[in-house]
Amino acid sequence: MIYLDYSATTPISYDVLDSYNKASREFMGNPNSIHSLGVKSKVLLNSATRQICDLLNIQENELIYTSGATEANNMAIKGVAFSYANKGKHIIVSKLEHPSIYKICEYLESLGYEISYVNNDREGLVDFEDLRNKIREDTILVSICAVNSEVGIRQPLKTLKQIIKKENPNTIFHSDITQAIGKVAVNLYDVDMASMSGHKIFGPKGIGFLYKKDNVKMIPLIHGSGKFGDLRGGTPPLPLIVALSKAIRIALTDLEKREEHVALLNEKICKDLEKYGDIVLNKTKYSIPHILNISLLNIKPETFIHAMEEDEVYISTNTACSSGDLSSSVMAIYEDKKRATSTIRISLSYVTTNEEVSKFLNLFKTEYKNLTGFLVNEK
Ligand code: PMP
Repeated sequence: MIYLDYSATTPISYDVLDSYNKASREFMGNPNSIHSLGVKSKVLLNSATRQICDLLNIQENELIYTSGATEANNMAIKGVAFSYANKGKHIIVSKLEHPSIYKICEYLESLGYEISYVNNDREGLVDFEDLRNKIREDTILVSICAVNSEVGIRQPLKTLKQIIKKENPNTIFHSDITQAIGKVAVNLYDVDMASMSGHKIFGPKGIGFLYKKDNVKMIPLIHGSGKFGDLRGGTPPLPLIVALSKAIRIALTDLEKREEHVALLNEKICKDLEKYGDIVLNKTKYSIPHILNISLLNIKPETFIHAMEEDEVYISTNTACSSGDLSSSVMAIYEDKKRATSTIRISLSYVTTNEEVSKFLNLFKTEYKNLTGFLVNEK
């Protein structure tokens, strides 16, 4: 099998699974119980949390475990919207967000909030001037993803924060860092809130977190009891938390070296695909190498994906989570419907090998020829 859909999800790493199993077997007590089994679990919970916070340079009271990025995005945006409704009901997002962000915005619009969509340039970079102009006295939140999930556009969080705070120091800056963490460096100092999912970084499915700066107020979505009761009630899923902590530690190791490796693989694929007359690369200077989006102008993307699947090669259309046929990110960047309705996402990881890429390119060529009847055109 050649798996090239790492941005949709990753397999859990054996080391992470070992931690999960050990915590499940040996720490069965509820961390909220006061007896020795509970205390033992609580000690482990605190140490896993401490490790995550040390790795990310944040405080323990700034970390809220969630089931993943969708929940963290909901918690951040709705939580802030409801908390600050008396200050304003205006929220700004980019045109390159994950569908979960847009769904939340639609819901908030139905409750009377106003959502503005900040423009981006042809390279996918958020238009700073437009952002400046859109921030108002009543803008309570700006949410811009660190790395876009379809085209891999990376936004400069530090600059965005400076712009936002200069225009309105009370506006909160949230970033969905799900596609950034473990791929490129992310500094949480550059944002007020951030969401992620563990399964994108070889962690287990069903755990993620929301980072929230201490001074940001947020009404909880899930009310309940226990240590985490204030912001997300319920018994902490200790094995998942321990596994997440391990996954984050592994994900942040050798980040630069791993990125260089992925960049070489990306270049190799691009060089090869550039030879095809009817394929365009949806790649800009801000795309991270882990996410390569292309448009197949002559074949339906689903047909091609299923053909590749016959060879046990796994790639995806725009994202696993998008519902329609149109890639909203490709549309937002290139404003070309044909291009946006024919996208394929090839997503790479530091574990992807050169050999896998060579095999992938050969199979790609065969299936492309089978489906189009064309030999590879030299452009
Ligand atoms: N945000 C981004 C940028 C994503 O790529 C994803 C997953 N595709 C999500 C949020 C949602 O993550 P989850 O499905 O794990 O909740």
